[in-house]
Amino acid sequence: MPAQLVWFRRDLRVRDHPALVAAAEAGEVLPAFVLDPALERAGDARTAAMLTALEALHRATDGALVVRRGKPEEVIPALVAEAGAEAVHVSGETTPFGRARDRRVERSLDVPLVATGTPYAVSPGRVRKGDGGPFRVFTPFSRAWLEHGWRAPAELPSQHRWVRRVEGEAIPDAPEVEANLAWSAEEPALERWHEFLDGPIDDYDASRDRPDLDGTSRMSIALKLGAVHPRTLLADLDRVAPKRSKAAQRSLKRYQTELAWREFYADVVFHHPRSAWHDFTDALARIPYDEPGASFVAWQEGRTGFPMVDAGMRQLRAEGWMHNRVRMLAASFLTKDLHVWWGHGAQHFLDRLADGDIASNNHGWQWTAGTGTDASPYFRVFNPVLQGQRFDPTGDYVRRWVPELRHLEGKRVHEPWKADDGYAHDYPERILDHAAERQEALDRYEAAKG
Ligand SMILES: Cc1cc2nc3c(=O)[nH]c(=O)nc-3n(C[C@H](O)[C@H](O)[C@H](O)COP(=O)(O)OP(=O)(O)OC[C@H]3O[C@@H](n4cnc5c(N)ncnc54)[C@H](O)[C@@H]3O)c2cc1C
Repeated sequence: MPAQLVWFRRDLRVRDHPALVAAAEAGEVLPAFVLDPALERAGDARTAAMLTALEALHRATDGALVVRRGKPEEVIPALVAEAGAEAVHVSGETTPFGRARDRRVERSLDVPLVATGTPYAVSPGRVRKGDGGPFRVFTPFSRAWLEHGWRAPAELPSQHRWVRRVEGEAIPDAPEVEANLAWSAEEPALERWHEFLDGPIDDYDASRDRPDLDGTSRMSIALKLGAVHPRTLLADLDRVAPKRSKAAQRSLKRYQTELAWREFYADVVFHHPRSAWHDFTDALARIPYDEPGASFVAWQEGRTGFPMVDAGMRQLRAEGWMHNRVRMLAASFLTKDLHVWWGHGAQHFLDRLADGDIASNNHGWQWTAGTGTDASPYFRVFNPVLQGQRFDPTGDYVRRWVPELRHLEGKRVHEPWKADDGYAHDYPERILDHAAERQEALDRYEAAKG
């Protein structure tokens, strides 16, 4: 049977993998991964997560996975020649970086580059408005996305055979990071998902906003790396829904909606690649920003003196992950309290997050900054103290990540300045006056509009 090369990228799994299925149906499969020097731009947490998933993929292919270092447009044709492959199969790419790379590789090949599926339930670009244009607002997109629907998970033929005649290189050791990579690879991610699906998901609607609880699925790293396909998750939601209570069904729906946000942002970046690093709307085109300085560093290091912001930024440093509620708060703090352009914060997040994803991250930032799709109105400035009191009502989240405040009980942890011993353990004083900076943000906005 003719050999088929499967070039893995954002799809480090063997289950529900349409491109792998297409290859296995056409012949014996050479699974390959290219250590592209361009990937070195990813931060240590993301790199470590990727190498963890790659090791697991190596085991899942019974050691057949061939890993080579180099430019994909040189490595892939070389592997094709060595294996005598008659096609290269990939999951279709949708980001500006991935599409440009794939065009280069396609030009370097004398066999077809066959794209089957994408890292999304519905391929970006597929869902369109009645007039054929792309959506710019989430709710109508999500309605059309649901209506469009998706295929059932793809099953790998049991008779598939791996090519073993091509030599690869050893998978490099992952950089040492503190990041929590427990659910980066396919098997553990699916295990975590099934545990979440078996119970905790029923409370998702209520607990997803609570960083002090383990109330979210933690699937973002596996989704980023493609260790699980979102369609697998969506199919499971449909499967369990009829057996759940009405309240639990609301939670399942909510989870589906969160996955739709991921799909929406990928669709937006597909149609507007420029929006990855430029304001999506020009609403704030004339607003002046401050250059990142010492206070930016305090924000990065979790030393702003605002407990909830600092807890989030320290969780990011330690875990390579941050709870969604705190991502929004940290982004609001940087853009509205420190008046720094969202791109600086987005870059810092990408450098640190194990799930760092250009579409979800940069549009998450733009949403908060007021320049994105469905932008939260510019005048909505998160109050870091109220956010803490509301979403970390036990104070456990702050105490977990800010040891200098562990002596403060309950909600007192959110206002150390009100406790006699609030600064007994060297917690930094607030670097700014939130009310004054909120007003400053609004004044800049009014002036820019006028
Ligand atoms: C400033 C900012 C930056 C962000 N950066 C990223 C990023 O780099 N990578 C990333 O995957 N997500 C990002 N998000 C979205 C969200 O914070 C994370 O997806 C979520 O916290 C991941 O945890 P989880 O898997 O436990 O989420 P769950 O609550 O269990 O959600 C399930 C899945 O739905 C998707 N999802 C949930 N919320 C969002 C959202 N707001 N936007 C897009 N997809 C969503 C994710 O794929 C997530 O894994 C960002 C949000 C903000 C506000």
